[in-house]
Amino acid sequence: MRRYYRSALCILALSAACGEVERPPSGLLITLDTTNPEALSCYGAPAGWTPHLDRLANEGVLFEEARTVAPITLPAHASMFTGLTPLRHTVRRNGSMVVPPEARTLAELAREKGMRTAAFVAGVVLDSEFGLDQGFETYVDPQTPANVEEHLEASRPAGEIVEEAIAWLGGVREDEPFFLWVHFYDPHFPYKPPGDWLSKAKGDAYLAEVGAMDAALGRLLEYMEERGRFDDTFICAVADHGEGRGRNGEDTHGYFVFDTTLNVPLIVRPLTGQGSAGTRVDSPVSVVDVFPTFVNALGLGAAGDIDGVDLLAGPLAADRGVYFESYFGVVAFHWSQLAGWADAEGKFIHSSQPEFFALKADPAESTNLFGSRPELAEPYRAAVEALCARPRLEHELLDDEYLGLMGQIERLGYAGAYTDEVGAPEPLEPSTAPSPHERIQVYSDFTRARRLMVEEGDMAQAGALLARVVRSNPANHKAQFHLGMCLKDTERFVEAIAAFRAALQYRGGERIPAELNLAVCYYNVGQTGLAIDHLKSALEETVGPPGAMKLLIQLLDQAGREAEAQRYRERLRRLSST
Ligand SMILES: [Zn+2]
Repeated sequence: MRRYYRSALCILALSAACGEVERPPSGLLITLDTTNPEALSCYGAPAGWTPHLDRLANEGVLFEEARTVAPITLPAHASMFTGLTPLRHTVRRNGSMVVPPEARTLAELAREKGMRTAAFVAGVVLDSEFGLDQGFETYVDPQTPANVEEHLEASRPAGEIVEEAIAWLGGVREDEPFFLWVHFYDPHFPYKPPGDWLSKAKGDAYLAEVGAMDAALGRLLEYMEERGRFDDTFICAVADHGEGRGRNGEDTHGYFVFDTTLNVPLIVRPLTGQGSAGTRVDSPVSVVDVFPTFVNALGLGAAGDIDGVDLLAGPLAADRGVYFESYFGVVAFHWSQLAGWADAEGKFIHSSQPEFFALKADPAESTNLFGSRPELAEPYRAAVEALCARPRLEHELLDDEYLGLMGQIERLGYAGAYTDEVGAPEPLEPSTAPSPHERIQVYSDFTRARRLMVEEGDMAQAGALLARVVRSNPANHKAQFHLGMCLKDTERFVEAIAAFRAALQYRGGERIPAELNLAVCYYNVGQTGLAIDHLKSALEETVGPPGAMKLLIQLLDQAGREAEAQRYRERLRRLSST
């Protein structure tokens, strides 16, 4: 079943397929956001659903047991680009952390090698502000100025990404090698498949998104063939995480570390003529392996002190294990961290309620053996400890001025996107906070409430669910904040004030929006002095929406505080003139 192949040819100048132009090999990284392996035909979906990804698998190597390092977009992508696990590259969450400038990324190595580099990114979660643009001469994301007018949405469909990638490739000279990254976001919530894909997928909107994404990829591959740029391009298609789709109590992804969201499709297509066609590998591999695999395939030098291995270098060690974590619950819900290690035999998850699953006998992770046989987890714990002892990059946080970006990310359904908390517990640190896996009902109520708010605007029903969430854990500042929003929108201002005050007490990332909304509630119940206090506090650190500043000026005028009103009037004028 397993065969391995790497030809020395790949690090030499190759003849392009057309046989006319001499140039070094190129690279194409395709990241499939939120894509479950079983959504692809080559992993078991109905035949013919994803013909283009299937083709790459038929011509290359398919990894059956690939996992992400974290079921969260930015940390997972940072691992692909650096070969480091999140605790070493330090990006543990979306929305607030930046890939450190000293990281050596795939794109930087490619550019140093003289390759043309470009990235076409579909989701704002990977905006260039988060540091993945290092090494790309072109980095187009939904926030890129040329896109901003048309793209107030936080994501773009695969068809647009492909059009832009094709336009860029058209400008690459025949003798120039390139490293191109295309990021597709279509299967990410909310699912809005284009054209007739929904009916083709018999109403399964998620699967429809995957089909549409594959069709768009097909256009890119076809163009590369027309240009004679397919055969000498090393291609990897990989997801950053899967989607729960209701399995293990999780609709989307991020909070838990069951294999339902850790497992990802991972397909490598070597250069034409390098063998390996149709190989399937069942050893555990990880998205951290993407970096060294490209580095070796494209001859980019030494991979360095990293956590990944070259997937094509030969048989993987029989005891190969992979690290994973999720810190989302820590940030959003004040839950314990989840971190662990998995190999072909088992999986250990550290939290306040440790778990061990014998994966061979129990792939669904339904029987926790930790209580009865804690010794089984020891080698796994030791592997995490060894990883923790390895050197890390310096951790970087995003500046507050990007709060607008945070709001967009939150609308994509990430509860814990922005936070001003800096510290994160070590993976194996003991915790007294609840384990996320023990709080699935709370999570389910929270996500349902957020969907009711975002998709249906049903604030009353959402508020009822959120009230249940905060009863179970008043320290859940995210739920307190959104409960406040529901209560405010249904004009229950006194109760909304209590919820916003609770959110502020736990110092979550919603401090500024919580203060602004608290001010509006105080204004509505006639407590003008408190409304002024909270507006001033919020507007100290952010420019805020202009409406907030105008309300503050109006309230200061009404209160006869003319000098202060004048100062804010001048600030507003300065802001609108810049
Ligand atoms: Zn993602």
